[in-house]
Amino acid sequence: MNYFINVILPIPLEKSFTYAITKAEANFLKPGIRVSVPFGKTKIYTALVIDIHNNAPLTYEAKDIHQILDEVPIVTQKQLEHWKWIASYYMCTLGDVMRAALPSAFILESETIISKNDATIISDADLRDDEFVIYEALHHQSSLKVQDLMSILDKKNVLPVIKRLLDKNAISVQEEIYEKYKPKLVRYVKLGTSYTSEDALQVLLSDLSRAPKQRDVVMTLFSISAQTKKPVKVSDLTSESGTSSAIVKALINKGILEEYHIQTDRVTYEGDDNEDSKRLNEYQEKALNKINESFDNQNITLLHGVTSSGKTEIYVKLIEDQLKVKKQVLYLLPEIALTTQLVERLQNYFGEKVAVFHSKYSSHERVEVWNNVLSNSSTAQVVLGARSSVLLPFQNLGLIIVDEEHESSYKQFDPAPRYHARDTAIVLASIFQCKTVLGSATPSLESYYNAKQSKYGLVELNHRYNNVLMPDIELVDIKDKHKRKRMRGHFSDRLIEEMTETLKNGHQIILFQNRRGFSPIVECHTCGHSPQCPNCDVSLTFHQYKNQLRCHYCGYNTVMPKTCDACGSVELDSKGFGTEQVEQEAKLLFPEHNVARMDLDTTRGKYGYEKIITALEQGEIDILVGTQMLTKGLDFRNVKLVGIMNADNMLNFPDFRAHERSYQLMAQVSGRAGRTEERGKVLIQTYNPYHKILQQVSTNNYVQMFEEQLDERHIYKYPPIYRMIKITLKHKDYNRVNIGADWYSKSLRTVFSQYVLGPEFPPVARIRNQYLKHILVKIPQKQSLAKTKEAIIKINNSFLSVKDFRAIRVILNVDNY
Ligand code: ADP
Ligand code: ZN
Ligand code: ZN
Repeated sequence: MNYFINVILPIPLEKSFTYAITKAEANFLKPGIRVSVPFGKTKIYTALVIDIHNNAPLTYEAKDIHQILDEVPIVTQKQLEHWKWIASYYMCTLGDVMRAALPSAFILESETIISKNDATIISDADLRDDEFVIYEALHHQSSLKVQDLMSILDKKNVLPVIKRLLDKNAISVQEEIYEKYKPKLVRYVKLGTSYTSEDALQVLLSDLSRAPKQRDVVMTLFSISAQTKKPVKVSDLTSESGTSSAIVKALINKGILEEYHIQTDRVTYEGDDNEDSKRLNEYQEKALNKINESFDNQNITLLHGVTSSGKTEIYVKLIEDQLKVKKQVLYLLPEIALTTQLVERLQNYFGEKVAVFHSKYSSHERVEVWNNVLSNSSTAQVVLGARSSVLLPFQNLGLIIVDEEHESSYKQFDPAPRYHARDTAIVLASIFQCKTVLGSATPSLESYYNAKQSKYGLVELNHRYNNVLMPDIELVDIKDKHKRKRMRGHFSDRLIEEMTETLKNGHQIILFQNRRGFSPIVECHTCGHSPQCPNCDVSLTFHQYKNQLRCHYCGYNTVMPKTCDACGSVELDSKGFGTEQVEQEAKLLFPEHNVARMDLDTTRGKYGYEKIITALEQGEIDILVGTQMLTKGLDFRNVKLVGIMNADNMLNFPDFRAHERSYQLMAQVSGRAGRTEERGKVLIQTYNPYHKILQQVSTNNYVQMFEEQLDERHIYKYPPIYRMIKITLKHKDYNRVNIGADWYSKSLRTVFSQYVLGPEFPPVARIRNQYLKHILVKIPQKQSLAKTKEAIIKINNSFLSVKDFRAIRVILNVDNY
């Protein structure tokens, strides 16, 4: 009898691949164990066993495996089932899913680059001979490819040695290097050394009688330190004395105050000494009961709770119930909402039971979480993670929470698998036969529709915690303001008034502008030419700080020209505006206050957001300018005013979802204002104050927005009424893309007739020198999704068998929204 295994290779192959094994290996192997295998003439890969059997492949001779890499499976049966669903639903290969799921240290291959891990000291005695040879080699060359090691050891079978070295932490797999953990520093102040004597102090206070605000600060400092007998935080000082951080800064500059930093531990739990969860108020209590009741006959429940209604505290209760019965919980959040603020909050309740999983984690950190989840360790009972954490090896899942379920970043766009984490989580829950809670203040049309159709349970929570009022939203007509000359730059007189008032009261401000950079378009005043990216069909964006023109699609950048490239004129105008320009104008309008900016350009690195958020929490920033990053689940006590600089560029975005998204974005940013007793204020600047969406945002009328948008989706045949699959063709030759797209869409029309849209070039039709053309297939509710996909795959296969088309890349995107 011959023995074989079928494996998944970490490459996009349509079918699983078969290898030959011995009888002993067959007895040992189980699905989910890794093996190292040869592939093609020279390559080696880590492959994952999915099946053990006796059937030789019909069309090729099965090669022998090199070696078994694991003692026990690292991937569970349930995961494999989940992966198969993902591959089939999102029309990709199991190899694609495997690559997305496994930490890179788990999938070694010939091209993997490894280097010595300088953080651990390894003594030669701890290494076997073959390990020593590799370890030595890495002393002479800082990094080596796996295939180099094959020639150094003069054998093909090297992955087991590498795995042993990885297990000993002697080496690491090369990847993007992220910032190492930086402890959070909190700013403190004390009286300057020259003022500590009684006399000097008297002199100081009388000197300051002409600067009453500064005097107040000094007096407050005394009273706080007298009361608490502890170091005084800058943030406490500003809030207690009701001044701005600028005044504190002035005192520091004069040497009257001295600042210093103390390192605070982010993780404050010790042993079992966790905080008790909060007592829910009557509305939260009612919502929690309703969620539990809905679970009697629903697997999925949507919690629609306005911003600051205390949804997180409800999740905490649901998590407690699961921990009592020793089940695992997955708590999904969009990447940017996964802040230390929230991690700390949950760690206060659940201590070391919380594991965090993040795309900015190193492969080593990911492996650790993976192993803890797999072994159902007590340190990973609650997994708090972004999109890819739905792919972890859960053993005993009892509940999934998808917070901010409306977030578009739950969908992966590139590379495959192009999965939606919310929908993928729902399937995972069904595999475990457990429940899912979707939460949002502004649910996606899909989820609210499903709830209305009774496919999901629906629980509404309309009270903010502590009866904090919903912010007062005012629409400012900037067309009128321009006409009456009431604008200074991009700030209306109303916005400036409110900002002045807010700052005077020592409160903070958030300004939202949905574009980064200084101005999106530079245009020649004389001839109208505007500089374009050489690789993409898009105008370059001016970034003043670096005096550069940058492409937001491919990263191309060049110095800002002094004259027009086309006609040589020096009159270059900029049109539109981005965060950088708002920041600069705010600085000019309020020079005595601290202005900071939070966007993609200022938040690179692992703790990029953290630094800015901490600075805002600590009162070191008075005005924060930012893009949609600002909308995400942040809780800033002292922010009383939110300004939306221009609502129109969101509303006019060419996408069927633009209105829904604008509502969500504006409602979420508005939710950042006034989360404590005092009512927050929101100013929305717009050229079109009568726009329905703006009216709905300002009256907080989600349901009306939902109904109107749903009507439009009916009329124009869009999700959630119709499903969609987007097919994108990509090639550097314009003609080839055109001809290919015509062929493709014609074939689709023979099957789906009027439900095929396009082919059409997207607004930016060339990116990184590749032309793109989209075709859209709309799928009516009664049409079988599986049959639709089968038909598309058939067409796709015949397309790729045409010689001229083979080089065209085809991207299938299911539910591309
Ligand atoms: P949401 O997630 O709905 O926006 P949060 O859960 O962040 O709201 O709650 C808003 C604020 O109210 C948080 O600071 C939270 O600590 C506080 N809060 C919510 N519920 C309670 C409660 N039952 N007891 C005390 N504080 C609460
Ligand atoms: Zn010109
Ligand atoms: Zn470009």
